[in-house]
Amino acid sequence: MALDLHDYIASYEDFPEPGVLFRDISPLMEDGQAYHQATDEIVKYAKEKKVDLIVGPEARGFIVGCPVAYDLGIGFVPARKKGKLPGKTVSASYGLEYGKSSLYLHSDAVKPGQRVLITDDLLATGGTIEATIKLVEQLGGIVVGAAFIVEIEALKGREKIKDYDILSLLKY
Ligand code: 5GP
Repeated sequence: MALDLHDYIASYEDFPEPGVLFRDISPLMEDGQAYHQATDEIVKYAKEKKVDLIVGPEARGFIVGCPVAYDLGIGFVPARKKGKLPGKTVSASYGLEYGKSSLYLHSDAVKPGQRVLITDDLLATGGTIEATIKLVEQLGGIVVGAAFIVEIEALKGREKIKDYDILSLLKY
């Protein structure tokens, strides 16, 4: 029987700052069946989109994207914060729900024409995903979709990337 994945999301008021209601996927990751079910749903989506490569932003994008890449037998590329990648990089900066940041990809990590799925744990204002899309497109990749475990609908991230197809397993 399929689980209701809502039961595996924890909520924390005033984290990491006052006024933020933080949705945490830790319980989902800690439960083998829930993690497997969430991964399987994203694998199904990635197959429909004929994805060649997965790109996920640091750090929870790795947790969502890596098992999907493993299942499909395709590569995973981490989009990393400043100072983490040793080779030549491209970068994009973005505003967060709380704070500002930049993301980087190795310049040869995505090949022109590759069909890319971007993964992350959560879609909030859409800044992180928008920056990741920019990085992939700078390298000539085709973003065929973005997959999240959780979408915070009130923060309207979907509007920021309305030209792209989005899968979110749970909406709040
Ligand atoms: P956005 O850029 O869409 O505003 O924020 C999404 C990014 O910030 C994701 O990488 C996500 O991990 C992190 N984030 C923002 N708000 C939350 C939250 O409530 N819970 C979790 N788990 N991550 C959040």
